[in-house]
Amino acid sequence: MTEFTHKQPELTDTRGRSLRDLRISVTDRCNFRCRYCMPREVFGDDYAFLPHEALLTFEEITRLAKVFASLGVHKLRLTGGEPLLRRDLETLLQMLREIPEIRDIAMTTNGSLLTEQRAKSLRTAGLTRLSVSLDALDDNIFMAMNDVHFPASRVLTAITAAQTAGLTPVKINMVVKRGVNETQLLPMAEYFRHSGQVLRFIEYMDVGNSNGWRMDDVLSAAEILSTVQKQWPLKPLPAQTPGEVATRYSYVDGGGEIGIIASVTRPFCGGCTRARLTSEGHLYTCLFASQGLDLRAHLRRGDTEEQLYELIAQTWGLRTDGYSEIRLAHTPGFQNKIEMSHMGG
Ligand code: SAM
Ligand code: SF4
Ligand code: SF4
Repeated sequence: MTEFTHKQPELTDTRGRSLRDLRISVTDRCNFRCRYCMPREVFGDDYAFLPHEALLTFEEITRLAKVFASLGVHKLRLTGGEPLLRRDLETLLQMLREIPEIRDIAMTTNGSLLTEQRAKSLRTAGLTRLSVSLDALDDNIFMAMNDVHFPASRVLTAITAAQTAGLTPVKINMVVKRGVNETQLLPMAEYFRHSGQVLRFIEYMDVGNSNGWRMDDVLSAAEILSTVQKQWPLKPLPAQTPGEVATRYSYVDGGGEIGIIASVTRPFCGGCTRARLTSEGHLYTCLFASQGLDLRAHLRRGDTEEQLYELIAQTWGLRTDGYSEIRLAHTPGFQNKIEMSHMGG
């Protein structure tokens, strides 16, 4: 591979947004069937997941990551599907950490395959931060949500393993769905207060076409905040970085901090600096996009780094995305959007 150092002045889209973060989905498969993400009626035994040869290889991912880095990306996040289902992820981490512009490599996982030893090897290989998804402490509720009978206690063990391995603070992602797990807001908050970990409540989103989303199912950030606040007063914290998706609060009594990701009721499109690469190498500039750019085809037909650079720069330069803002302003049409498990959350 030729070295590639091309740099152009700050790349921005049509709304002046820079390209800063890249989410890389390393697999479209998952061992959970969360009702809000991969419901088993759609992702059943006969579902056609991608064959291995369709996935980008680690070399292809790294090649693209280098081009993205030269366009301004400093942060990478590995996701899926369930990223820990992809074999030898440590090898990919070791390759990505060698890219000079990359300062941060995070991962989002359901925690089901994360032992202490695995957490240590991921960290040694270059992982800097970890988010673990957990929607409830109550097993009846959690199992109904993950739909594979996976107990909450095993995710809690994985979170402790990550903490022991030094992947701190671990962020805990809790998707909140009205009438499903809202009773878990306070137990979850209580469990993670004073733990050094950061619980983040996520408004249930209308990603993909398969989760049967209705606005009525969304427990808003305002409702989440008022429920927690009544029990343990909170104060807002300033954003740490521009374009931060979570609004941060700290417990007044020193119990640590929480975050709320209000993509439905308080969209943050104006500061959205994120691109997404699917496991088969399609680039999406919005989580809710229906059209992606097939970078794998360009890689496999022998495009040079310069050509890939121009292609991605042009795509970002033309970007107009702001789906969540539009959804808030209008009655949305939920057709033909790509599934979140496929694009990478
Ligand atoms: N399997 C990994 C996991 O669950 O952490 C990584 C992929 S998952 C698609 C990434 C994140 O998206 C998870 O935290 C998950 O809870 C969240 N997510 C999935 N579907 C969602 C939805 N409909 N609304 C809000 N968040 C969702
Ligand atoms: Fe799998 Fe994560 Fe989607 Fe749940 S949210 S089905 S764990 S990809
Ligand atoms: Fe970014 Fe699209 Fe989400 Fe808006 S809706 S924040 S543009 S990914």
